[in-house]
Amino acid sequence: MFMDTLVKKITPESLALAKRLIEEEQLVAFPTETVYGLGALATSEIAIKRVYEVKGRPSDNPLIVHVHKDYDISKLVEVNENGYAKKIAKAFTPGPLTMVYKSKKRVASSLSCGLETLAIRVPQSKEAQEFLTFVNQPIAAPSANISKHISPVTAQHVYQDFNGAIPLILDGGRCQGGIESTVLDVTGEVPVILRKGLITAEMIKQVVGACEYAEETVTQKAKSPGMKYSHYTPNCSTALFERNEIEKGVALYEELEGKGKKAVFLVDEEIALLLGSRRILHLGATGEQMASNLYDLLHEGEKYDCIITFKLNLNSELMLSVNNRFSKAFFKAENKK
Ligand code: AMP
Ligand code: MG
Repeated sequence: MFMDTLVKKITPESLALAKRLIEEEQLVAFPTETVYGLGALATSEIAIKRVYEVKGRPSDNPLIVHVHKDYDISKLVEVNENGYAKKIAKAFTPGPLTMVYKSKKRVASSLSCGLETLAIRVPQSKEAQEFLTFVNQPIAAPSANISKHISPVTAQHVYQDFNGAIPLILDGGRCQGGIESTVLDVTGEVPVILRKGLITAEMIKQVVGACEYAEETVTQKAKSPGMKYSHYTPNCSTALFERNEIEKGVALYEELEGKGKKAVFLVDEEIALLLGSRRILHLGATGEQMASNLYDLLHEGEKYDCIITFKLNLNSELMLSVNNRFSKAFFKAENKK
């Protein structure tokens, strides 16, 4: 059934509508400091089923539960008051960090995909806090994009993927962080990063002395099931080159232009300087800038026939997080070579 998707700035009226829709087990997209989330009442099997359906998300990829900063998460998960997890939560939440705890199974079982654990995030942005506080319920929220498409960082991106499929998008402008939260398993002896993000192992080590990375694996046993899927794919053709293959990239650009096609470079500042007056989407110079710009520019790049890019310099932990998304967006291209 087609419904009109409303896009509303955050006001007392739109928040009241959002709360009503959530309580009616409908979906509401809302902004966080990382990307837009597709919110659903975490205790409702019906609402969770809707999330998987509209996203086309594989049913073995669990959802993250979002709560406001004053929500008592011990209602949902086992929290060891004296453990390292408490220190990490104190240091980095609210923020772009999702923590995986042992579940008390108080939420819809389809949300956890049969796992004994539950992922919890307390987002930091004012808009996300307003929405979560107003609703005052645990909200399951994956990124608000069709599964495998680029994650959304504006209300417009959400609208492109879900117009007619969800009733309401709360518009809080462009998300600043740009890449999804770090996912951290806090159920073991030491914290383990399951998905890289803005909070890095180095930052966590400074607080609790230890932090490991889970191996990224493509097997069914992946600890963070979502990591085994390809993600973030633009709907246009793409080409990925080594950093020393500038001539090849330029040759492809000129060839496409000669055929009347529109190509665009998506590159960091170091490479942008070598491309003259050709069409360029500027990722920026630092890890923070690139994290913040990546998804917006991938969406922008989709308006062209081909995005041409070059591998990133992996010179910081944050750049590893950025590259984790970047390399998945251009995986297709790498595979072809
Ligand atoms: P998304 O909702 O698209 O931001 O993806 C959520 C990520 O969190 C995926 O990679 C999931 O596999 C991961 N995740 C969610 N819940 C859990 C959990 N209980 N244990 C491990 N990873 C989880
Ligand atoms: Mg996602």
